[in-house]
Amino acid sequence: MLKVQNLRLVYPNGYEALKSVSLNVDRGEIVAVVGRSGAGKSTLLRCINGLERATAGNVILDGEDIAAMNAAELQAARRHIGFIWQEYNLVERLTVINNVLCGRLAYGGRFSSLLLHFDRNHREIAVRSLERVNMLARANQRADRLSGGEKQRVAIARAICQQPKVLLADEPVASLDPELSAQVMEDLARVARAEGIPTLINIHAIELAKEYCDRIVGIAQGVVVFDGRANELDEAALDRIYRFDRQRTPVPEVFRELELAGTVA
Ligand code: ADP
Repeated sequence: MLKVQNLRLVYPNGYEALKSVSLNVDRGEIVAVVGRSGAGKSTLLRCINGLERATAGNVILDGEDIAAMNAAELQAARRHIGFIWQEYNLVERLTVINNVLCGRLAYGGRFSSLLLHFDRNHREIAVRSLERVNMLARANQRADRLSGGEKQRVAIARAICQQPKVLLADEPVASLDPELSAQVMEDLARVARAEGIPTLINIHAIELAKEYCDRIVGIAQGVVVFDGRANELDEAALDRIYRFDRQRTPVPEVFRELELAGTVA
């Protein structure tokens, strides 16, 4: 189980991206994080996998506080954190199966010359992971031959192959067309539920979040402004999450100065 408690993150330039964020994700639960651009969604995921060190608060994963770990502890903990990126982050010239095996590198697999060496146990886990996303038939194909949807399914298999305690996905379908987006979300939710992995997905498409996720967390300006089931996401909740989009965007001061100077029309 993942517990985020009173998480605060101030960037070195003084910007407070997360004010005091708390949320829980249970085993096998799929939670969508929604909010306008700049709300703090990526920052939240980056704090959970330790890429950003929290200014205050806790990130408890299976009883261990990621926010309080030193560098060596963090490196060990990251082995159990699966991450799925918008742009897949596959090694294009490697085969599908070798990309999935990359999920086992932290468990003692070796990267030697251009060949990955893994024992039978690692390979069996990789094969099962590929089966989960229905990509086993493509195991020996190079990753650069795959479509976007297939690449993301391989990325899901690689994350599952880590046998993670938590799965984090940052805009996993933002580069895909609507039909593929639905398929990939379906795969991701099905696999995470089957494996019982708590899963947190940053996602723009609110309809996909409602359809495939168990719960929705809405963030605005670094604060959780909604946490509930899809059917509770009414107009008032949407307004709290997206209200700043609905206001007129203020003209930046510098632009106003240029306007006054007659530089821009
Ligand atoms: P989202 O994922 O919701 O679009 P982010 O978490 O990427 O939002 O960013 C939240 C806020 O923090 C934004 O205003 C962004 O400009 C700011 N931010 C992100 N990274 C940094 C950084 N390294 N230094 C300073 N500010 C940052």
